[in-house]
Amino acid sequence: MPELQKIRHWIGGEYTDPASGEWLDVYEPATGKVYAQLASGNAEDVERAVQKAQEAFPGWSTMPAVERSRVLYRLSELIDERLEDLARTESIDNGKPLALARSVDIPRARDNFRFFATGLLHFASESHNAPGAYVNYTLRQPLGVVGCISPWNLPLYLFTWKIAPALAMGNCVVAKPSEVTPHTAALLGELADQAGFPPGVLNIVQGTGPGAGSAIVAHPAVKAISFTGGTATGAAIAAQAAPMFKKLSLELGGKNPNLVFADCDFDEALETSVRSSFANQGQICLCGSRIYVERSIYNRFRDAFVEKVRALRQGDPLTEGTQQGAVVSEPHYRKILAAIETAKAEGGTVLCGGAPAPQSGRCTEGWFIQPTVIEGLPAECRTNQEEIFGPVVTLQPFDTEEESLGYANSVRYGLASTIWTRDLQRAHRLAERIEAGIVWINCWLLRDLRTPFGGMKDSGVGREGGWEAMRFFTEPRNICLKY
Ligand code: NAD
Repeated sequence: MPELQKIRHWIGGEYTDPASGEWLDVYEPATGKVYAQLASGNAEDVERAVQKAQEAFPGWSTMPAVERSRVLYRLSELIDERLEDLARTESIDNGKPLALARSVDIPRARDNFRFFATGLLHFASESHNAPGAYVNYTLRQPLGVVGCISPWNLPLYLFTWKIAPALAMGNCVVAKPSEVTPHTAALLGELADQAGFPPGVLNIVQGTGPGAGSAIVAHPAVKAISFTGGTATGAAIAAQAAPMFKKLSLELGGKNPNLVFADCDFDEALETSVRSSFANQGQICLCGSRIYVERSIYNRFRDAFVEKVRALRQGDPLTEGTQQGAVVSEPHYRKILAAIETAKAEGGTVLCGGAPAPQSGRCTEGWFIQPTVIEGLPAECRTNQEEIFGPVVTLQPFDTEEESLGYANSVRYGLASTIWTRDLQRAHRLAERIEAGIVWINCWLLRDLRTPFGGMKDSGVGREGGWEAMRFFTEPRNICLKY
């Protein structure tokens, strides 16, 4: 058997083996087979990465903004030049359809660098003055070495969403992608090198959360942690980081409501709801997994929705035209199937899906689950309260606006929400009261990178995007001068 490809750390401007000498298996979800070996990082690797980042910091943080901008922009161009290759790698690593990686994941990774490369040129700090008395001005200085930890669902997209603003503001980074989907992040190392990043400015330590992630959080020289992942992990990171007074940005889980009113544009609400339910096999933190439909159109919406879901083309993610690929890992596959069993035990009626979706050929052993629609469950049951993060949604009717709001807010999460109605007064009324950091009205996943992104309640603390992210990665220092 030929030796498997090795995915190494990127530390101090070069690919390096793990200090432990240990390697983890990396699976291709569509085939269920190991296709690469991943460096299993530990505290020693993190220590080396932090040292390299500290050495690089004086040069990077004082580099003129125009030059820093140029390097970041060049990286966005290089991602674009490698788009097809990166998209294919992402699809193999994650199980998502190649078409999705090509049209969403990799272009967005490119845009993240482009956005912050140009944004940093416009970043300004504040001044607060009392004419004739004193002047205050605020320096916004880079923090030093910062840690970025990301999940598996949108691997390069979310990894770069953190790294780009951190680097733009003059910090050096020690980053860790998910051990489940490490490959495109590893390729970013060589692209950063080609773009002209000095060694040590960006370091990528591979490995598990307990092995490498926790060591990044614990390192005293790492001044801030930007984390995206599950709520329980976020809580563990917060508990570890809080006594060290690190800055924390936590983007966590969700259980997003999708409210469909009878006066909506039916076809558009229907079409988009299929996408907001099942894009990336439902593994987007912003997917709307609880669909509440006004009773007068409930049956019509349900029937049309189920028909469209049944028509989704599931198969090999690398085949053109595939709309539903594999879910990311065997443990996740089992977790989703168990959640479907729970829904059945709770009395839910499975309208479509509800089972594995066996494939043929090279995907026979892959982790495929049929897109699943369930109705007849109350808002307070586990299925409607707990994040499943897979191709599973519930449908439920409502009678009044107030009732729909009650359902929307009935969970511990508060990440995103969607409202479908032509009554804009109602839409604004609801948007002000829905407990969610993001409210989409008559659209979904329309993203403007300048807007604050993040959740409330158990969906997280802090906001990413635009100035929010750039401010997060700086230390404000106020200076007051008397006239
Ligand atoms: P996860 O929490 O298991 O892992 C996320 C990352 O944290 C991985 O890199 C992992 O290795 C690392 N990690 C795990 N334990 C750690 C520890 N103790 N210390 C430091 N790092 C640790 O999440 P996941 O399963 O990879 O991703 C799915 C979750 O992410 C879902 O809950 C989803 O809702 C959430 N998510 C949220 C957003 C958002 O923007 N709010 C976006 C995408 C995904």
